[in-house]
Amino acid sequence: MTGDGILISRLIEACRDVIVRNADYLCELDRAIGDGDHGTNMARGLMAVSAQESRLASLSLGTAISEAGMLLVMSIGGASGPLYGTLLLELGKAVEGSEDFATKLERAIGAVARRGKSQAGDKTLLDVLYPLQTAVSERLDLTQIFEKAKQAALMTIPMKAKRGRASYLGDRSIGHVDPGAASCALLAGAVCDILSQVMNTPEAACA
Ligand code: ADP
Ligand code: MG
Repeated sequence: MTGDGILISRLIEACRDVIVRNADYLCELDRAIGDGDHGTNMARGLMAVSAQESRLASLSLGTAISEAGMLLVMSIGGASGPLYGTLLLELGKAVEGSEDFATKLERAIGAVARRGKSQAGDKTLLDVLYPLQTAVSERLDLTQIFEKAKQAALMTIPMKAKRGRASYLGDRSIGHVDPGAASCALLAGAVCDILSQVMNTPEAACA
């Protein structure tokens, strides 16, 4: 397997594991301000990606990320499917380009915002994605990036939802973590964890 293949496999397994492990927690968050399915939606999506692990691991990193995005769109079902799908489709397209990673991430997040017609402060997964991008652009280390993502998810608690199902609740959406923000922070943690391990191994040099 190529360096990309090892990285792709480990990313898929880590993302699947963190979502499956936290599916009940994500559903519980979604029961408070949505319809209670965010954990099952995300677990279904990550299991669909995981089912194609060996095929995805034979592709280039950019193509694998884009194809994982397509699988998420097709399998998640809820509002979060097209949003996570857009993030990965755009990131996959950008990843093999020559810009720095922060710029690629910024572009992919911009596509999510357009797709969701949402912006920072709307109490969505964007409220984790934007701070994550800022942390990457500030060249923080991987542990600090994950810390920022976790803090950002908690900072959705006092927000009033302006997009998605939670927005129907108006002021009653205040006082809860947004489920999409929580899944985003969990996934960021899994990715940072794998990157910190792989970057110290000989395989990384082959990537
Ligand atoms: P559904 O709301 O269809 O049940 P999920 O429960 O899987 O879908 O996902 C809900 C999450 O999706 C929310 O917590 C929020 O983070 C995100 N979300 C929903 N609508 C939007 C939107 N328009 N823009 C950005 N994120 C959104
Ligand atoms: Mg839901």
